[in-house]
Amino acid sequence: MAAIMGNTQTEQVYDLLIIGGGPAGATAALYGARADLKTLVIDKSLGAGALGMTQKVDNYPGMPNATGPEIVRTIRRQAESFGAEFVQDQVIGASLDGEVKEVHTGNGTYRGRAVILATGAMGRSNYVPGEERLVGRGVSYCATCDAAFFRDQPVAVVGSGEEAVEESLYLSNFASQVILVHTGRQPKASPHLMEELEKNPKIERVSGRLLEVLGEQKVEGIRITGPEGERVIEVPGVFIFMQGNKPVTDYLMGTVPTNEDGTVIVDRRTYETRVPMVFAVGDLLGGEVKQAVIAAADGALAAVQAEKRLRGRKQARSDWK
Ligand SMILES: Cc1cc2nc3c(=O)[nH]c(=O)nc-3n(C[C@H](O)[C@H](O)[C@H](O)COP(=O)(O)OP(=O)(O)OC[C@H]3O[C@@H](n4cnc5c(N)ncnc54)[C@H](O)[C@@H]3O)c2cc1C
Repeated sequence: MAAIMGNTQTEQVYDLLIIGGGPAGATAALYGARADLKTLVIDKSLGAGALGMTQKVDNYPGMPNATGPEIVRTIRRQAESFGAEFVQDQVIGASLDGEVKEVHTGNGTYRGRAVILATGAMGRSNYVPGEERLVGRGVSYCATCDAAFFRDQPVAVVGSGEEAVEESLYLSNFASQVILVHTGRQPKASPHLMEELEKNPKIERVSGRLLEVLGEQKVEGIRITGPEGERVIEVPGVFIFMQGNKPVTDYLMGTVPTNEDGTVIVDRRTYETRVPMVFAVGDLLGGEVKQAVIAAADGALAAVQAEKRLRGRKQARSDWK
């Protein structure tokens, strides 16, 4: 447990403060603590992260058949075994300019000489009824992650852009049928993808808008409205690509520069943001492949960079020189 209780402030200065304890943040903590950095992870709640809310994960190396929460808890335990501390608290603000950075929660202020941002990308703002409740139970935002769970079953894809088309094509390798629900007369994607879409016999296109995800414990279908009125499509899985997931950066209040889509700008080699000694990792970066193993690797690399910098080097020396 960290040294802050109630509204008490503490003078304790950590070497490494990590905001977010998903695979990216927990792995950063593991590498930081193992390098003897006094490390604290502040995490809102296990179930608030993308991996923490995923019930089936087939592709995390070394942990077959584990649930997302099991994977995150295992990494956290490993980090704790090297001395990392975890506290459950929600970060609501940060003052990151000075040499000692301050991270504010409703319970007090944590201080650290380096900060790693690892709060993921879960910020879809306009959920339709049923969607949020059934995430990980048939609602997915990632075909690479979940397509294999729907082998030989029909699935729906909702979205009208490049990502929806690309993911529909990918899903057609697994699903018995892919129903692509898009607004307008046809989806908007590059000509080569549209050509592949036309030729794919497994993909049916339906013009419409998603109204609701149906099901109690798991997805049983979706309700859409289209030119012919409302209809229900019975499917055990729905992949939604309407807005993309928004990186969770609200607590930074614009103090760390981001791209237009909200992803945090970092030097891709050092993971440092434009604020010195503040690093960012995982889904916050909006990399092309959104997977737990990639987030974990980001966390490891950023912690190595932070450690070298804290110990007086400009950057980590390459292992290959
Ligand atoms: C439904 C679904 C299924 C998926 N399936 C797979 C899969 O099968 N295989 C795979 O490899 N990947 C899968 N992914 C992708 C994977 O979960 C993500 O790429 C990965 O979790 C990103 O890790 P992260 O640490 O960056 O973010 P997250 O896992 O989202 O963790 C972010 C953490 O930050 C914390 N946090 C957020 N805001 C605050 C705050 N203000 N203060 C304190 N803490 C905060 C949250 O509590 C959370 O614990 C899936 C994603 C989803 C949504």
